Amino acid sequence: MEDSVKAFTQISDFFEYLGKDFAAKIAASAGIDLDETPTYPFNCSRHYASLIKNANDPEALLRQVLPSKKENETVPGFVDDPVGDLPAGKCDSIIQKYDNRALVVSTSACGVRCRFCFRRNYPFQGVQDIASEVSNWLDVHTDIWEVILSGGDPLMLSPGKFRDLVESIAMHSSVTTLRIHTRLPIMRPDLAMQHFELLRELPARFECVLVTHVNHPDELDEESQMVFGQLKFAGWTLLNQSALLKGVNDSAETLVKLSRRLFEQGVLPYYLHQLDHAKGVAHFEVSDDAARDLIAKIRTKLPGYMVPKLVREIAGEKSKTPV
Ligand SMILES: *Cc1c(COP(=O)(O)O)cnc(C)c1O
Ligand code: SF4
Repeated sequence: MEDSVKAFTQISDFFEYLGKDFAAKIAASAGIDLDETPTYPFNCSRHYASLIKNANDPEALLRQVLPSKKENETVPGFVDDPVGDLPAGKCDSIIQKYDNRALVVSTSACGVRCRFCFRRNYPFQGVQDIASEVSNWLDVHTDIWEVILSGGDPLMLSPGKFRDLVESIAMHSSVTTLRIHTRLPIMRPDLAMQHFELLRELPARFECVLVTHVNHPDELDEESQMVFGQLKFAGWTLLNQSALLKGVNDSAETLVKLSRRLFEQGVLPYYLHQLDHAKGVAHFEVSDDAARDLIAKIRTKLPGYMVPKLVREIAGEKSKTPV
């Protein structure tokens, strides 16, 4: 990295990096009514900014990170806790909705602040000793065989804290599968690689699954390829989940390209999520009918194993729900 800036927190710096004219032009053609003082703060990694600069479709990437005044509109049905995380909380850092698998809210930090994030209004608790909390909970919940590290982004934990957390889970022989949900391979590949020593050792102790979150083919480059390639070599199963987002990936052509690029990098499409109705994200919504049409179209263009499952998360259900 030729510059010490790892993440932009000021829109002006981000625009400066992109080139002011270029930034203003793509923001305008993307129809973003820029909110310069957003309630949900702006944050974009330097790496993602470079992806925007080099993208074939920079608007699709910019819409994911640039605050729009539309986020301030109140739309009925768009709420603070759209997927029922809070009633499913077991302690400050654990959410369990489904049998046999539990999700750890590892940290509030991410490599980016996605404008459509379903946890954008989540009351993160800032647990001091997350390793102990998770370990104590697993001691008495021996029916759990898969632990999912989510967040925020678990790879934003310092290498020491991340190791402590993983070690505390590994002490429980009831847990056979460790899953990591992360956007860092495309947002902060440098940080993803920082955890690589540990990630490489893990398949000896668990079945290991990495579920990354890529929404657009222009988000994949040689750096994501490097992260995925190393993990695949170490024996990880690599899957992707995308959110279906208006103006980002709601075309069959884009979704086909995304599946093919993921596969080239060793990653299989897993879920295509209908938007979670968090407050402030309504302008990203794609209708169920349009979503089903898209899946029907891409099914005729791709082998079956490259077609993601179209699902929605409904609060209180015992699994994701097919759309
Ligand atoms: C989505 C989710 C999971 C994982 O569900 P899968 O269908 O196994 O991918 C687990 N726990 C929680 C709380 C979730 O929201
Ligand atoms: S990386 Fe995931 S958790 Fe983090 S802001 Fe984006 S959607 Fe939300």
